[in-house]
Amino acid sequence: MKTILEPAKDLPIVAEPDVAVGGGGPGGIMAALAAGRRGAKTLLIERYGFLGGMATAGLMTSFNGFRNEHEPNHVQTVRGLAQELVDRLAAAGGACARTSHGHFGELKPGHCPYAVSFDPEVLKSVALEMLAHAGVELMLHTAFSDTLADDRNVSAVIVENKSGRQAVRAQMYVDATGDGDVAARAGARFEKVKKSGERMMAVTLMYRVMGVPAPPEGERRLWVNGLTTRWGPRINEVDGSNAADLTAAEIEARRAVMEHVESLRKDFPDVTLVETATTIGVRETRRITGLYTISEEDALTGRRQPDSIAVSSNPVPNYYGKRYFLEHLGFEIPYRSLVPADLDNLLLAGRCISASQPAFQSARSMAPNMAISQASGTAAAMCVAADCQPADLDVAALQERLEKDGALVRIPPEERE
Ligand SMILES: Cc1cc2nc3c(=O)[nH]c(=O)nc-3n(C[C@H](O)[C@H](O)[C@H](O)COP(=O)(O)OP(=O)(O)OC[C@H]3O[C@@H](n4cnc5c(N)ncnc54)[C@H](O)[C@@H]3O)c2cc1C
Repeated sequence: MKTILEPAKDLPIVAEPDVAVGGGGPGGIMAALAAGRRGAKTLLIERYGFLGGMATAGLMTSFNGFRNEHEPNHVQTVRGLAQELVDRLAAAGGACARTSHGHFGELKPGHCPYAVSFDPEVLKSVALEMLAHAGVELMLHTAFSDTLADDRNVSAVIVENKSGRQAVRAQMYVDATGDGDVAARAGARFEKVKKSGERMMAVTLMYRVMGVPAPPEGERRLWVNGLTTRWGPRINEVDGSNAADLTAAEIEARRAVMEHVESLRKDFPDVTLVETATTIGVRETRRITGLYTISEEDALTGRRQPDSIAVSSNPVPNYYGKRYFLEHLGFEIPYRSLVPADLDNLLLAGRCISASQPAFQSARSMAPNMAISQASGTAAAMCVAADCQPADLDVAALQERLEKDGALVRIPPEERE
């Protein structure tokens, strides 16, 4: 490939927060909220003009994995900030229990079934309010573009927006870009499976329609406030961290979406397309290598982790060629999987944590993802307060703090043999 030399230039340092969070999806919202509530001066950087990531821009309107989808599912393994978000969504008329695979669960304050459907517009608004209340500053319409790092230490991140190219210098960084952009640009090692042959999850363009009646009990459908979310064109062998692949996938999916709507009209003649997602939905890209990588065996056996900060009960949807349901209450997520092996002052949040492909496919779902990210943000703020690096954080103090904040950090001892 031909190259061109970009001349070096001085960039304005536009913000110097304690904690800079890159990406405002479910992971980034929770990380920033947790850091802000713990008193850290927190900045959230997001490329779109609204929050929610795949939950809003990708129109993926169901938080899955508050508990196992099948038995044993009697323990709700995701609580804390994720529960608070659902409670606020429900109070604002933007959430309802999702009917899925014949599993019904009640949605009531402080209690979630396996999955919760939500209205993405209500989520945009509720997330903004929660972050504003926690004193989190937002930098919207701003794309993270590069990381400046001296060896293992991130010294600044470079962002691009209408005002030009700028720098943000923080004490602690949280990578919640989904793709692990911030850590990868700093040179951190990562895993990413090949597009073909290793079952990289497909991308899907989601859309919403009106004119479909509310689903009868037992039918698996995403229906909130009169609108139905549909899984649209699905495209394989796309690397969501490659711009050319994304462009080709968007074009192919957008050309095919009207056929989807047309075929839906066979069952529901009054259907009207309300919107397609702002972006094609990317399920899987990089997993940054951490101090510990959650193995397949960890996930399948539900191995205990001494530094557990969250639990994932969600099925593994794709890796085994079928929806694989865990045979236990959930597997524990070690704090070490949030700490990159190659960087000192950065924490991972959301779907880019260090995990094998099957463990990732479970924990990426939004309920466990939010629980993990609450821990990332809490840890970042605690590192700032203690003036220490994530690898040196007192994990027992982190676990205690998370429990005080309503999170479930491990499978309750009485539930273990
Ligand atoms: C089609 C599809 C179906 C799914 N189905 C379900 C489901 O039914 N239930 C469920 O719970 N989960 C589901 N998931 C998974 C879930 O949506 C994701 O795993 C989850 O949203 C990941 O959250 P995140 O915050 O880690 O990343 P994301 O949601 O991807 O958020 C990342 C955020 O970072 C921003 N960002 C990224 N790069 C940059 C940059 N360079 N500069 C600035 N901002 C940046 C993005 O705009 C985005 O807001 C699905 C995903 C897809 C794609």
